[in-house]
Amino acid sequence: MEQRLRREAKALLEQGKVDYIVGFEPGSLKFTTTPLITKDKSDVDRLVINPFIVNNLANFLTELKGQVGVVAKGCDSRSIVSLIQDNKVAREDMVILGIPCPGIIDLSKVEKLTGKDRDELDDIIWGGDKVVITADGKRSEFSITEVLFDNCLGCELPTPQEYDILLGEPTLPVAGRSASQAKIDRLKEMTPQQRWEFWENELSRCIRCYACRNVCPACFCQRCFVEESEPQWLMPVPRWQDNLTFQVIRNIHVAGRCTDCGECERACPVNIPLRSLTREMYDIVSEIFHFKAGMDKEAAPLMTHYEQEEAEDFIR
Ligand code: SF4
Ligand code: SF4
Ligand code: SF4
Repeated sequence: MEQRLRREAKALLEQGKVDYIVGFEPGSLKFTTTPLITKDKSDVDRLVINPFIVNNLANFLTELKGQVGVVAKGCDSRSIVSLIQDNKVAREDMVILGIPCPGIIDLSKVEKLTGKDRDELDDIIWGGDKVVITADGKRSEFSITEVLFDNCLGCELPTPQEYDILLGEPTLPVAGRSASQAKIDRLKEMTPQQRWEFWENELSRCIRCYACRNVCPACFCQRCFVEESEPQWLMPVPRWQDNLTFQVIRNIHVAGRCTDCGECERACPVNIPLRSLTREMYDIVSEIFHFKAGMDKEAAPLMTHYEQEEAEDFIR
């Protein structure tokens, strides 16, 4: 897949079909990648596809002017479609290089399983439904359901729905739905008081860095409500009550746009389980409105219309 990606990307640049290629290159740390945005065809040999291509590259599209060739996993392609629905990008301005995606490895799960820091690991090799991890010359084998990100375990559409070039054979979702829901289910089993205390405790650690907002392709307002001073919705200091307000409003803003790409939770430097909010909202939107983000570029965005038969009597 990687070789094909490089060939296709080079051809797109050489033929003038795109001005930029947006993909992944190796990161400076072990087992990491970093986004590569380039106009230079000699850079395409640095493009990689591996189990560490975490970022949702749809996030860069609203900033780039011109024709863009963008690498997209299943969830990323849905974010792109969602941006098209919101008129933030135009389908004709991009070539989507689709990756059938078997899932992304969560290094924090690997660290917990092995008891080693990621820098101490020698190798991580994925084969079939197992991952073999080597540290200090010792090999340990784990099921992929133990090491993938929670959102990848619950991924419904790992093969991009919207693409121009599909770089491999379509792949099926991993059978990991119950593992993916474990944290959310634990919260649902709590009493409202326990849940309140859980979020008070979690959100007390928020430093309001806004990484969760900044990595999210669905968070694209030019001026976010958190930066408004008239009215001032939130105090700039990270009090837990304001942190809670931030997350509640952000979740409502991305309802119907969130594709469960998992980027907000991954980017949080203090490990707040943000997916427990976003995935729950995703499921609520699906259940009440029969709407999943980024499935149909011709469909109207969720929040721009309502039907007479919808349940909210107060709207009528
Ligand atoms: S959510 Fe699905 S498409 Fe996205 S990275 Fe995980 S497995 Fe791949
Ligand atoms: S990424 Fe985490 S710490 Fe930063 S604002 Fe979001 S929740 Fe708070
Ligand atoms: S809210 Fe989180 S999971 Fe949803 S699209 Fe944004 S970054 Fe991805």
